[in-house]
Amino acid sequence: MKFDVAIIGGGPGGSAAAISAARAGLKVVLCEKGPHGRDKVCGDGLTPRAIGALDELGIDHSVAHRIDGLRMIAGKKQRELSWPTTDRFPNHGAVWPRQRFDNHLLDVAIAAGADVRFGAEALPVIENGTVVGVETNGEVLRSSLVVLAAGAQGAAAKMLGAVRDPDETFGLAIRAYAPTPRHAERHLEACLSLRDEHGTPIPGYGWMFPAGDGTVNIGVGALSTMKGFKKLNLNTLLDQYAAIVRDSWSLGDYVDKPRAWRLPMSCVRRHGPGWVAIGDAAGFVNPMNGEGIDYALESGMLAVQCFVNDPATAPRSYDRLVGERFDSFLRTGRRFSFIIGHPWLLRPGLRVAVGTQAAADITLAVMGNLIDSSTPGAAGKVMKLADNALRIADPLLRRTRAKA
Ligand SMILES: Cc1cc2nc3c(=O)[nH]c(=O)nc-3n(C[C@H](O)[C@H](O)[C@H](O)COP(=O)(O)OP(=O)(O)OC[C@H]3O[C@@H](n4cnc5c(N)ncnc54)[C@H](O)[C@@H]3O)c2cc1C
Repeated sequence: MKFDVAIIGGGPGGSAAAISAARAGLKVVLCEKGPHGRDKVCGDGLTPRAIGALDELGIDHSVAHRIDGLRMIAGKKQRELSWPTTDRFPNHGAVWPRQRFDNHLLDVAIAAGADVRFGAEALPVIENGTVVGVETNGEVLRSSLVVLAAGAQGAAAKMLGAVRDPDETFGLAIRAYAPTPRHAERHLEACLSLRDEHGTPIPGYGWMFPAGDGTVNIGVGALSTMKGFKKLNLNTLLDQYAAIVRDSWSLGDYVDKPRAWRLPMSCVRRHGPGWVAIGDAAGFVNPMNGEGIDYALESGMLAVQCFVNDPATAPRSYDRLVGERFDSFLRTGRRFSFIIGHPWLLRPGLRVAVGTQAAADITLAVMGNLIDSSTPGAAGKVMKLADNALRIADPLLRRTRAKA
C-alpha cells in the first residue's frame, strides 16, 4: 500500500496537513502515538492570526470561546487592549481547550478521508538518504512525502537531523485549569512582570486565558535566556502567580495536576529528500508570546500545497516558502529573547511597552505577529526599526547573555 503523504503526529499541524491533503484528493495516513482524545499541554489561546488560519482551513470555530483582546499587566500598570483591526486577519481570537480542539481537527481529517491511526507511534523509514515512508506498529507505510508533525523534537526528529539549535532560545511553560466565576470574560490576561522565587525577573509571562466553560487556563512560561533558567521551578512559579491572581479571579483549586512542556524555537534542518517538518517539529514557536498553534496550522497547509503543486520539488519549495513567511519574524523574536533575558533591559523595556495605550497597542500587534515590516503605520515602522536595531545588537546581547 503506498500513500501520497504520511504524517507523524496528530496535533494541529498534522491535522491541518491531513485535512488539506485529503481534500486535495491525496491518499494520506496520519499516525498519532496517543489515543483518540489525547490532551496537549497548552494555554489554548488562539490569536486572530490562528483564527485566520482556521478560516483558511475551513474549520468552524464558533464553539470556541471568543476573545476580543488582551489585558496586559506590568507592575501596577494595566492596559485593556483590543486585537488590532487589519486587512489580513480577523479582529478576534479564541480559547479552545486543546483536548476538544485537537480532537475536533482529527475528526474533520477523518471525515475528509484521511486514514488516521491512534496508538501509532511512528518513525521515518530512510533508504539511501531518502525518506520513503514511516514504520508504525511493525508495519511500513510507504509514501511520497513524510510530514514530521511530532511536536517538540524527539526520536523521529533526531533520525532526520531536525533538532534544536543548541545556541538558540527555547521556552518552558506550565499550565493548569481552575474554576473561576470570570470564565466567560472576553479578554486574555497576561502579566509580564513576574519574578522567580529569588526575585529574578522572568522573560516570559503568566497568563489567565478564560475558557468559557467554567474554568480558566492558568499558566506561566519562561525563555531559556534568563539567568538561573536551568534551576527554575515552574511549579513554584505557577503557585506564586496563582497567589497573585487568586482574589481578583476568585480562583478555585486546580482541576488537575499542573503539567509542563517545551516550546521549541529553532530547528537546524526542516526538510530533506522525501520529508518536511512543520509546526513545533520545525521550531515554529513565536519567542515573543509562545504561540505555536497558528504556525503549525499554516506550515501544515503550506507543506501540502507545495506537494500538490509539484511532488518532486515539495521539500525544497516548502523550505523556501515557509522561510519567506516566518524566518525573519522568528529570528527577530529570538533576538528579542536575548534582550529580555537581561533584567536591566527587561525592566525599562516593559515600562516603554505598556507606558501608553498606543505603545501597548503596538506591543500587542508586534508580539502577535499581526503585522510585518511591510505593514504601514506605527506598528509596521516599529517592527522595521526593531528588526534593524536587534540585528546590530544581537552579537553583543548573545555574548553578554546571563549564564543559566
Ligand atoms: C504550557 C504551554 C502553553 C502554550 N500555550 C499556547 C497558546 O496559548 N497558544 C498557542 O498558539 N500555542 C501555545 N503553546 C504552543 C503550542 O502548544 C504548540 O506550538 C502546538 O501544539 C504545536 O502544534 P504541533 O501540531 O506542531 O505539535 P503538537 O501539538 O505537539 O502535536 C504533536 C503530536 O505528535 C504526537 N507524536 C509525537 N511523536 C510521535 C511519533 N513518533 N509518532 C506518532 N505521533 C507522535 C504527539 O503525541 C502529539 O499529539 C503552548 C505550549 C505550552 C507547552
